[in-house]
Amino acid sequence: MATIEMKNIVKKYGDGFPAVNDVSIDVADGEFLILVGPSGCGKSTLLRMIVGLEDITSGDMLIGGDRVNDLAPRDRNLSMVFQNYALYPHLTVYENIAFPLRLAKWKDADIDAKVREASKTLDLDEHLERKPANLSGGQRQRVAMGRAIVRDAQAFLFDEPLSNLDAKLRGQMRTEIARLQKKLGITTVYVTHDQTEAMTLGDRVAVMKRGILQQLATPRELYEQPVNLFVAGFIGSPPMNFLPATVENGEVTLPFGTFPLPADKAAKTEGKGLLMAGIRPEHFEDVSVIEEGKVDSARTFAAHIDVREWLGDQQYAYVPYEAEAKVQDQLKELARESDSDSLRTQLVVSLDAASSAAEDSDT
Ligand code: ATP
Repeated sequence: MATIEMKNIVKKYGDGFPAVNDVSIDVADGEFLILVGPSGCGKSTLLRMIVGLEDITSGDMLIGGDRVNDLAPRDRNLSMVFQNYALYPHLTVYENIAFPLRLAKWKDADIDAKVREASKTLDLDEHLERKPANLSGGQRQRVAMGRAIVRDAQAFLFDEPLSNLDAKLRGQMRTEIARLQKKLGITTVYVTHDQTEAMTLGDRVAVMKRGILQQLATPRELYEQPVNLFVAGFIGSPPMNFLPATVENGEVTLPFGTFPLPADKAAKTEGKGLLMAGIRPEHFEDVSVIEEGKVDSARTFAAHIDVREWLGDQQYAYVPYEAEAKVQDQLKELARESDSDSLRTQLVVSLDAASSAAEDSDT
């Protein structure tokens, strides 16, 4: 059993605001858990407390059901992969991967079998005699993973392992990590600030902000049912649009007009004064690509596109708007609350690739 249980974990450096503030997360045996959040949210600190590289101020850390708060890192039997790979430059690929086994005083023949098995899994068998300096970034990353998987560790811990790679390689390595984790079925905790990695790799994702766990859920739940503005704005790319809104008589008034609202949404928001409506970019459509007769004129508005980005399979259109003076302060407050840059007064709309909506057009 390699469960990891974090119970009311707090970390304070000095007298300041806690870097990790009362976080409780149970990671199931074999689960892939992601810790995600903006820089400084405490995700690395939390990971380092699991490994034992950082003392826990209060709370309990249990691995495989045993309390490990006072256990040295080497006695926790965890494998960690760091952002900078932490390879030994003077050792060959073979010796880098063999390193933890030599430390554990394995026999040469057993080490050889294990290193060859891992290097095959990771497609490194042709590079075993090379030194790290003569490898590409992706190959170095794989050596670091090789070193992590040769040990029969209880869990893998990754601290932003792909952030030094270019976008294409990052995508490839992401798939490799997912494949490897599935194959080995080993409990994994993975820190990233990249929400694409979070959404694609995790069985569940823990979103953190300023030391506090905001939401712990599957990627789909995070996307469809964010618990607050921060999570709503953080998950999704381009980010969710937040628009000032008022609801009266079953209709919502947005900067672009007044539209009918489904009864359940209207019932919850009717007469509540000024609200924020969250609308994802893909929930807009260009009427010119909708079949005739299927356009709902009550939900249509004209918008002036000032910038358009064509991505091949879809397009992003940017539609600036004026926010009324009376909602400016509220927008600023929301920008603070959501830590989001999506509160600039523009709408981001994701359009079908076939849309002919042009830049500088009213569509
Ligand atoms: P990043 O993505 O930038 O690495 P993070 O989410 O991993 O950020 P942490 O590195 O865990 O964040 O840091 C959380 C908070 O704790 C930050 O405010 C940071 O400045 C502070 N902190 C981290 N390490 C120390 C330390 N050794 N001494 C004092 N404060 C620290």
